[in-house]
Amino acid sequence: MRAYKDQHFLTDPRIVARIADILDISGRRVLEIGPGEGILTKALLDRGATVISVELDRRLIDLLTSRFSDKLASGELTIIPGDAVKVPLPPFDIVMANLPYSISSPITFRLLEIGFESAILMYQKEFADRMMAPPGSRECGRLSIMLQTYARANRCFDLPPGAFSPPPAVHSTVMWIEPREPLFPITDKKMYEEIVRELFSRRRKTVRSTLHALSGKFGKKQMEDLIETLDTEILSSRPEALYLEDFATISNRISA
Ligand code: SAM
Repeated sequence: MRAYKDQHFLTDPRIVARIADILDISGRRVLEIGPGEGILTKALLDRGATVISVELDRRLIDLLTSRFSDKLASGELTIIPGDAVKVPLPPFDIVMANLPYSISSPITFRLLEIGFESAILMYQKEFADRMMAPPGSRECGRLSIMLQTYARANRCFDLPPGAFSPPPAVHSTVMWIEPREPLFPITDKKMYEEIVRELFSRRRKTVRSTLHALSGKFGKKQMEDLIETLDTEILSSRPEALYLEDFATISNRISA
């Protein structure tokens, strides 16, 4: 196998089958991000899925084009060249991928914005841990809050570096992600995102202190009025100790 910068390819067909068999994908439109040399692509096609694969590397696109010429001709496979974070995507039902870890965050949020039924995605283990970190834990951050607001995420299994060629320096985790509506009303999603970002950009500060610091952005009087209405427990907490609905309470009151 040739070397591709910072990319680690799955080599064990049993692991590939384990990923491809998590969901019944027969007859479904499956989006694959970063097919590489096509080991997972083949497993998805073998299970009767219609596959849309987005690949950035020109050499890999050429390789895939010749390897899957019959599937491309029959329309079972479409290869979209380009950056999966930016390129326009056709409709799909399910996402399955051994992701390039450098785009874990932007691709996950892009997919959640587009919408899908279910995703089976491989991440660096530490990233997956942060995705699932519960409120109050040290790992809880912007990623945990934003993901848990809009999706249910479960760990399927972990993989050691030896499952890849070349072996990466890190462990990996296969995650099952299902979008869901937030469990509480969010009046303005952009404001919610901004409040979560602002609070975690000062994660050592209390909510009260950050809201004061945001007076320049949202108005001194508005922030003072907001602080008046919030529970002391919320105001004296650091962001990682807040529940999802506390972020909604704060952002809804600002956007009211
Ligand atoms: N799925 C293959 C496997 O498991 O063996 C390859 C996985 S490899 C970790 C990630 C793949 O994503 C590589 O083929 C790489 O060229 C491609 N890639 C990297 N950045 C990308 C991007 N922004 N958009 C689409 N593909 C990308």
